[in-house]
Amino acid sequence: MRVPIRGLFPGKRAYEPIPEEQAEKIKAWWHELGGDPERLVIDCSSGSRCRLDEAEGVIYVGADINPGEGTDPNSSMRWRAALAHELRHLQRFDTGCQEEPGPLDEALTDLEACAYPQLPPAIRDELAADALQRLYQYINEMKQREKE
Ligand SMILES: [Zn+2]
Repeated sequence: MRVPIRGLFPGKRAYEPIPEEQAEKIKAWWHELGGDPERLVIDCSSGSRCRLDEAEGVIYVGADINPGEGTDPNSSMRWRAALAHELRHLQRFDTGCQEEPGPLDEALTDLEACAYPQLPPAIRDELAADALQRLYQYINEMKQREKE
């Protein structure tokens, strides 16, 4: 399992638009995870971002569903792991279990997404590695705040 190590290149996630054939795979994986097809919107424009639209109660899946060039856990997480993470955001929103937006909420969302029984072990590892990276971020932010 990959763990976040300081000094890894923190890249970005993909910018290129989601290919049409992948959009079908995204819908199929969403369905397999138990997501409601009516609450998934795929944005095939370049540079689009995954996000929860709280007003509409839907997840927008954008170009950054795909990994980028970085070697840190967040940049390299593959799309099946990222989609499980997004579905969990939606479920946390539905149940009112969200923390304020930030690394702690992201880490908890990752860890809860690990519990989907449909996930292969490699996807679970990617979510756990991302959670660990986010927890380090959270702790570093707390340390910064204590200094101020
Ligand atoms: Zn997230």
